[in-house]
Amino acid sequence: MTVAVVGGGAVGLSTATALARRGASVTVFERDELGSGATGRAAGLCYDAFADDVDAAVAADALSRYRDLDLFDPQPYVWVARDGSDATAVREQIAQMQRNGVVVETLTPAELGDRYPALDTSGIEVAGLARDAGVLNPDSVVATLAKQARANGATIETHTPVSLASPTSLETPCGTRTFDAVVVAAGPETKPLVADVGVSLALKAYRAQALVTDPVDAALPSFYDATREFYWRPRDDALLVGDGAHEVDPADWNPDADPEFVDRSLNRVEEAAALRPACDRAWAGLCTATPDGAPLAGEVVDGLWVATGWQGHGLMRAPAMGDYLAAAVLDRPNPLSEHLPGRVDPTRFDGSETFAALDDPTRDWNE
Ligand SMILES: Cc1cc2nc3c(=O)[nH]c(=O)nc-3n(C[C@H](O)[C@H](O)[C@H](O)COP(=O)(O)OP(=O)(O)OC[C@H]3O[C@@H](n4cnc5c(N)ncnc54)[C@H](O)[C@@H]3O)c2cc1C
Repeated sequence: MTVAVVGGGAVGLSTATALARRGASVTVFERDELGSGATGRAAGLCYDAFADDVDAAVAADALSRYRDLDLFDPQPYVWVARDGSDATAVREQIAQMQRNGVVVETLTPAELGDRYPALDTSGIEVAGLARDAGVLNPDSVVATLAKQARANGATIETHTPVSLASPTSLETPCGTRTFDAVVVAAGPETKPLVADVGVSLALKAYRAQALVTDPVDAALPSFYDATREFYWRPRDDALLVGDGAHEVDPADWNPDADPEFVDRSLNRVEEAAALRPACDRAWAGLCTATPDGAPLAGEVVDGLWVATGWQGHGLMRAPAMGDYLAAAVLDRPNPLSEHLPGRVDPTRFDGSETFAALDDPTRDWNE
């Protein structure tokens, strides 16, 4: 079977590898460099702390694949709430996660402070601790996935923008090429690409920002503040800090971070950990959202597949979802095939839905 994958991000490369490993003849088309979309701009948080059982199963599958690839760097993940309703939600999430077998525990502010003395726990009502969480280096993910894809026989064509001439043929700079199947994993561009062949996706883009600080001298976990809506993760000897996002036109957005974001983030770090590092570099990237927060991953018309709508969680889920999708394209079994198809079927929407892109990229698919 010949398959084209449009998009050389974590999802496209994972899908290409899984397809090639199952014997398909795969070509990846990337309009720029590999990882030049959201993947190369991701913070790299990677955890299994999901209250929903299907989300948790996807995360467990992805984490195990990243561990096998030696791309997963263990790093506990702490999330905190500062007011009553957020605290109730965090407690409920943790109870549900524990029922799903996720290794998480509730910490009081005092327990949190004992564990991480550099954190200022004043004002925190409750914390969750996910021990099996970790971080990924997006550049290493891209390099490793590309190497794997090639090793399994896939061809990767960078600096090759394509469009759809029909559901299974691509207009490339060297002419039209036809395949048995086409998988479009082009982030927000997936929507206009498939619109050319009459497919309407319920997909929106939102812009998320991140920065890396100068080095800090403090032992800290990855951290998400559900009340103040920001997160950080240790990166080398510094912190990578990010926060909520807003909806944008994917054809007209600013890839540089806003100065207000940088100030706000550094203030939040100072409030939460009494550190005031300077900003070393900052950037923005595009994430994708769907009406129900679950991705669009499946066949939209005969031979044409999409994989997008990751709600800010696409990097951590890529190897699991890529394998799931490859198996579906080739009509083979996959551990997630039992639960996922209905949840992620892109045709569950007709594309005419009105919805707001989520402003909190750390939400579960089903919250
Ligand atoms: C600031 C920020 C922080 C984030 N943090 C995290 C995190 O901590 N953990 C996490 O899991 N996720 C995180 N994400 C989300 C994550 O980056 C995305 O969900 C994930 O990278 C999506 O991967 P993808 O392969 O689907 O898309 P992308 O990486 O966007 O890849 C799509 C590719 O398609 C290519 N393309 C587009 N149009 C065409 C065309 N016509 N022809 C050929 N190629 C085309 C693009 O150039 C691009 O390389 C973050 C995102 C941002 C912006």
